[in-house]
Amino acid sequence: MAKRFRKIVQAGWGILTNAYVRGFLPGGPAIYEGVLKHFCVPGMNCYSCPGAVFACPIGALQAAFSGKHRKFPFYVLGYLTAVGVLAGRFICGWLCLFGLIQELLYKIPTPKIHLPKTPDRPLRKLKYLVLLVLVVGLPLFYRNRLGVGDPFFCKYLCPVGTLEGGIPLVLLNEALRPSLSWLFGWKMAVLVLCIAASIFIYRPFCKYICPLGAFYSLFQRISIVRMRVDQAACIGCGTCEKVCPMSVSPVKNPNSAECIRCTECVKACPAHALSFGIGGEGLKLKNNKGIQGK
Ligand code: SF4
Ligand code: SF4
Repeated sequence: MAKRFRKIVQAGWGILTNAYVRGFLPGGPAIYEGVLKHFCVPGMNCYSCPGAVFACPIGALQAAFSGKHRKFPFYVLGYLTAVGVLAGRFICGWLCLFGLIQELLYKIPTPKIHLPKTPDRPLRKLKYLVLLVLVVGLPLFYRNRLGVGDPFFCKYLCPVGTLEGGIPLVLLNEALRPSLSWLFGWKMAVLVLCIAASIFIYRPFCKYICPLGAFYSLFQRISIVRMRVDQAACIGCGTCEKVCPMSVSPVKNPNSAECIRCTECVKACPAHALSFGIGGEGLKLKNNKGIQGK
């Protein structure tokens, strides 16, 4: 039930934040540019999606850094920090449409790949590099001859933008097609790779690439909404670690930077030793066997 509830929240949020139906109608896609576009959603959601009602925080950060007149993004950074302090990577697990898309792809029945620790651990650091280099460093310091920078992450890497923005815009607007360059081909290749990887690996973009996940992970240890382990109740069965799709051990590290707060472990714990909510109190789900804690 909890799993279905999370899927409903993810899907509902995706629809709500991409509800500008006019953008999808034939006759020229008009990206919504009204007052709500001044506000960011907490998850990844491409500004250029014909249905997008709000802005993407990662796009907004780069826009501030790469403009001709650099601006310190007080609003976006303040907003992201507030969201991080409140909820950490709960946003990844519950309020990100691209996260949901990856989870649905992972449901395709194929053999699954669980990377061993050696490539997995260093690869997970990649998202911090993406944040530092492609979202902050290059947009802030690179300038072309006209003195204008580039939103490097959006322009060269982001598969969310290709899926939600690039493809619908090209499909809906014939006039755009002749002007497509190698860049569109490159972005399509990144997207295809991401989709293919998602069939075999659970949320590979979130694990290895997403700069927003990297940012929120910095707040996991202090976020108000958090996980708690009742060590006295824990019987050390290891079930929580086995069911965790992000390969986290919630007993050893309940507020790991990699935990997306999906609550699978909370639901599976036979001893009800895990809880999740404000200050770690709140949600304590019953498992199928209904075993009570000691
Ligand atoms: S599933 Fe529950 S009882 Fe088992 S190790 Fe994890 S927290 Fe402890
Ligand atoms: S530790 Fe628990 S809540 Fe976090 S990702 Fe793993 S299963 Fe989900």
